[in-house]
Amino acid sequence: MIIVGITGIIGSGKTTVSRMLKNKELDVIDLDALAKHITAMDEVVEEIGKAFGKECIKDGKVNVATLRQRALQDRQSLQTLEDIIHPRVRRAMWNKIDELREKGKTLCVIDGPLIFETGLYKELDKTVVISTGQETIKERLKIRGMSEEDLLRIMDFQIPLKEKEEKADYVIYNNGAVEDLEKNIKELLELLKKWEGTVHAPE
Ligand code: ATP
Repeated sequence: MIIVGITGIIGSGKTTVSRMLKNKELDVIDLDALAKHITAMDEVVEEIGKAFGKECIKDGKVNVATLRQRALQDRQSLQTLEDIIHPRVRRAMWNKIDELREKGKTLCVIDGPLIFETGLYKELDKTVVISTGQETIKERLKIRGMSEEDLLRIMDFQIPLKEKEEKADYVIYNNGAVEDLEKNIKELLELLKKWEGTVHAPE
């Protein structure tokens, strides 16, 4: 099986690209969705409460806004949160990959923002980076209601796009309209087929 990671930086368009690939019947595992699911688990809520304080828990659930503020305070706090969430996300991801393998699938896409930061890229066969200029991202995320302050703080903790582009097997530039992105997706699909073609039989 060929496992392809799709990444970028916050707001560069990973989710939009993944949605387009899902529409083409590709199997996409969304690591953000897995993280959200994991953050709702009782044992994880408890661990977060212990690490970040009771104020981060409301009615037995994680208060995401408060947790975000605490976790983004400094690198160590973010690391503490990541140590709780990431190993579980990775296990859930491999379980899903195994399920796909058992079904005889030969291509799987992983959509995740921190594929390079967490070292996950080393476990994947190929990586694709979605690259967008910072000003364009600011505009797009403003519409989504994210403050510039939060955005810059999150970007600060991520590896710069240029570095990710250099490491990637393929880069999609998403600075234009959605229609332009769709054209790029056609090319990406051809490349994915080519990569998939290097697998002769299900493992
Ligand atoms: P996050 O890291 O926050 O999950 P992301 O990389 O998954 O972000 P998206 O959610 O796909 O990024 O895109 C960010 C915002 O920009 C969304 O509101 C999306 O609809 C919009 N967007 C993405 N690509 C384009 C485009 N080519 N033209 C206009 N808007 C776009």
